[in-house]
Amino acid sequence: MDDFTLLDRSLNDAMARIELEGLNCGLKHSVDDPVENHKAVDYLCQNMGNLKTKVPTSQIKIPVCAECVEALYDPNWILAYCMYCNRSQWIYRPLAKNEYPEENGMYWMDLCPFCAEVMDEYKEDSDE
Ligand SMILES: [Zn+2]
Ligand SMILES: [Zn+2]
Repeated sequence: MDDFTLLDRSLNDAMARIELEGLNCGLKHSVDDPVENHKAVDYLCQNMGNLKTKVPTSQIKIPVCAECVEALYDPNWILAYCMYCNRSQWIYRPLAKNEYPEENGMYWMDLCPFCAEVMDEYKEDSDE
């Protein structure tokens, strides 16, 4: 998680908006309310890079629906996003087991628990 640090976050990327036609939300929704019901209205843009040099080395763009945009602005919701498998997970702060810093509403992981598990299995397999 340390390699990727929040440098800048911008919603309302006007240029990107044009490309949103026909896209669904790229974040997690419940099984009862699948992502197909959520048309993307905006992009969540994230610059990735080294915090020390402040030079972004890459940018990711995730299409998000109106509901997710709202949650991103809601301090009660924390978004954890895996850069490796593009899985996302919403954490409801009042019910979270861990303490999360007040100002941090988003966590960019280079490997999520799911990926870590798959990697472990792969490692075990290749040991044989
Ligand atoms: Zn959404
Ligand atoms: Zn992952």
